[in-house]
Amino acid sequence: MNVYDLTLEQLTERLAAWGEPPFRARQLYAQLWRRSATYEEMTDLPARLRERLAEELPIEVRVLDERTADRGATRKVLLELGGRHVIETVVMGYRDRVTACVSTQSGCAMRCAFCATGQMGLRNNLTAGEIAAQVVWARRAAPHLPAWTPQRVTNVVFMGMGEPFANERATLGAVARLTDPRGMGLGSRHVTISTVGVVAGIRRLPDANDQVRLAVSLHAADDELRSELVPANRLWPLEQVIEAVAYWRERTHHRPSLEWVMIDGVNDTDDQAGKLAAIARRLRAHVNLIPLNATPGFPMRASPPARIRRFAGLLEDAGVNVTIRDTRGREIEAACGQLRVEHERLAVG
Ligand code: SAH
Repeated sequence: MNVYDLTLEQLTERLAAWGEPPFRARQLYAQLWRRSATYEEMTDLPARLRERLAEELPIEVRVLDERTADRGATRKVLLELGGRHVIETVVMGYRDRVTACVSTQSGCAMRCAFCATGQMGLRNNLTAGEIAAQVVWARRAAPHLPAWTPQRVTNVVFMGMGEPFANERATLGAVARLTDPRGMGLGSRHVTISTVGVVAGIRRLPDANDQVRLAVSLHAADDELRSELVPANRLWPLEQVIEAVAYWRERTHHRPSLEWVMIDGVNDTDDQAGKLAAIARRLRAHVNLIPLNATPGFPMRASPPARIRRFAGLLEDAGVNVTIRDTRGREIEAACGQLRVEHERLAVG
């Protein structure tokens, strides 16, 4: 049990059992979630209480390593959670926002051909507290970003390791913790869940939270190609995914995003652009093109820039809103699809 797994009510109960007054729990909760403080740093709490907390409700988050790229605007934080998982969280500073990219699982069972996490398979599910704690701790890195970015985390994307809807309860629990106004108080509209296309998860999302944004990893616009790149397509074929996203759109009135990794000679053809445009128009979706990042198990290259521009142009001509995602963190293996557990030896040190 991670202290970040406890709700304010559960913390209050625990501290009451220790004979602490109710305001102590609120104080502790604010320190944990607003200040991202360690127990040693919570100097407004009595020392004996801090000792007892450290013993009985350990924070169980350790920063093992931190690396920077893109002239300091990207920071990769290597975290050890609960003494058992090692997870990478990436913090990216932009002019108008700072985005934390969090993992929901250690490894992933979806096996997308081009993804480093998929290539390693599934190790473990993270708990809600372990997912949310990545943001708490990523926030400690934000003040070290260059001065031209906001010095705090403003957005969270569930685009790190793992498939959020394959660990749905914990993912939604993490969203609830991050958006709790008594704690971190992040706005739900600043949180994006990215999914490979788990149909039931997409359909249930509006009932859990109708403000959270949705991104779907499409990567191919027909079942034949998509099943090759994204094996999960055999479980949840394209048409079912599209219908689920249409339903989510109807319920929430928000614009979904479709993600598309640009792979040279594979899914960057005019034919795919045409089919993708039809899907995006039907869903009134925004399309995000992501140049492929190299991973050890996939021998393909990113589409050349001219091809990406042409693909984007075809979508635009068809009336589709499209952006080309800038690649962040490549040189420290912190870019999309590059996260994998390669540091387990550090966990024992
Ligand atoms: N499982 C979720 C979220 C994690 S991946 C999902 O599939 O959406 C986040 C995004 O990075 C997805 O769109 C994924 O397809 C993309 N991605 C994975 N590997 C990549 C790579 N090697 N290069 C570029 N993008 C990649």
